[in-house]
Amino acid sequence: ASPALSRIGLAGLAVMGQNLALNVAEKGFPISVYNRTTSKVDETVQRAQDEGQLPLFGHYTPREFVLSIKRPRSVVILVKAGSPVDQTIAALSDHMEPGDCIIDGGNEWYENTERRIQEVSNKGLLYLGMGVSGGEEGARNGPSLMPGGSHQAYSNIQDILEKVAAQVEDGPCVTYIGEGGSGNFVKMVHNGIEYGDMQLISEAYDVLKHVGGLSNDELAEIFAEWNRGELESFLIEITSDIFRVKDDLSDGFLVDKILDKTGMKGTGKWTVQQAAELSVAAPTIAASLDCRYLSGLKEERENAAEVLKEAGLKEEVGSLAKGIDKKRLIDDVRQALYASKICSYAQGMNLLRAKSVEKGWNLNFGEVVGLAISAGISTPGMCASLAYFDTYRRARLPANLVQAQRDLFGAHTYERIDRPGSFHTEWKKSA
Ligand code: NAP
Repeated sequence: ASPALSRIGLAGLAVMGQNLALNVAEKGFPISVYNRTTSKVDETVQRAQDEGQLPLFGHYTPREFVLSIKRPRSVVILVKAGSPVDQTIAALSDHMEPGDCIIDGGNEWYENTERRIQEVSNKGLLYLGMGVSGGEEGARNGPSLMPGGSHQAYSNIQDILEKVAAQVEDGPCVTYIGEGGSGNFVKMVHNGIEYGDMQLISEAYDVLKHVGGLSNDELAEIFAEWNRGELESFLIEITSDIFRVKDDLSDGFLVDKILDKTGMKGTGKWTVQQAAELSVAAPTIAASLDCRYLSGLKEERENAAEVLKEAGLKEEVGSLAKGIDKKRLIDDVRQALYASKICSYAQGMNLLRAKSVEKGWNLNFGEVVGLAISAGISTPGMCASLAYFDTYRRARLPANLVQAQRDLFGAHTYERIDRPGSFHTEWKKSA
């Protein structure tokens, strides 16, 4: 039976919405749900029944849905980013009252959130843009939540968010991020860092497979072992699991049958655009984005591999692997991955940067990159991290020459190392 009123509402019952709604209900908060296509409402209600009579209540019109929620109302939206969010807000906000709040949980561009904060404030409504991380499984069992916008709106549902979020040693994975679109911005950078992590892991795999000649079984073992050390993370864990999965449509392992073309939805691109916009160097994240673009050129790459054989893989895996100290290679790759990852995180957060130089990571980082290059394996993410590190720790760069060129052709002036002020030289006359 439907309670008098639900504590919270959720509109948009695809993968993320359905699972997050069940998570909220499971924590004991009565929740109303709605979806444009009503079959998803029935599906979600059925799941709530099957998963233990959870307090989740389906509604079929925006009005009925909104009116079923206790005031001040909190309505989470989990639909496709962009105009579907505007359309959903338009449908729901007609029935909402001053003090009620809309919480967009999608991967939204932060400026859209800032625009909507303004728009709904005309009706006296509050707004949160809340990044939700962890995919389907996270949404159901404990996501990481990054809410930004109205602090009042956050306070209204803080108890729910803290119960629903993943629980770690430090407490629940949720904190009020800040005003405006900051929650979406943090989620965007988080996704950009994730692009970098995934790229670096794929490069480690490439080196271990093609230089070390490791089998999928061995790779599964190594990633499982790495997951017990400093690399411990969700991505390392699932990578180990992936190497164990057999193909059920033909012989061998599924990973070997998957087309090497990476999809993407936009948050990585936004991160790189923002890094450029803010003049922050983010080479590892940029390299990971470039690799996704290059992966899309499958046909061209296949042709190039034929024509440019010399520049391709130097030797067959078998002979490359011969004479390699496998144990040493595995350890070098592990350290290279760890160091690359730290550089990548530093780019994203602009935080670990000073620390990594100060600590003087004595990691065997350059060696793996050199080995990969000589074997003809591209490791752009690792190279970008290494270049970032090496550039960052150099007291003097050849940027003096670039400054001279800029001054010569554009009279852009330059500064000197030995006295203050800005200088311009008539280079041609002085030569
Ligand atoms: P999705 O595939 O991005 O979107 C499907 C949902 O959007 C459906 O409920 C659909 O309703 C609704 N929708 C689409 N156009 C609409 C419109 N014009 N008006 C009203 N509703 C509309 O769903 P998702 O994968 O669950 O993701 C939801 C959000 O979470 C996205 O922003 C996504 O980027 C973000 N996110 C996803 C993941 C993930 O792992 N999937 C992880 C973190 C964040 P109908 O059923 O009526 O078509």
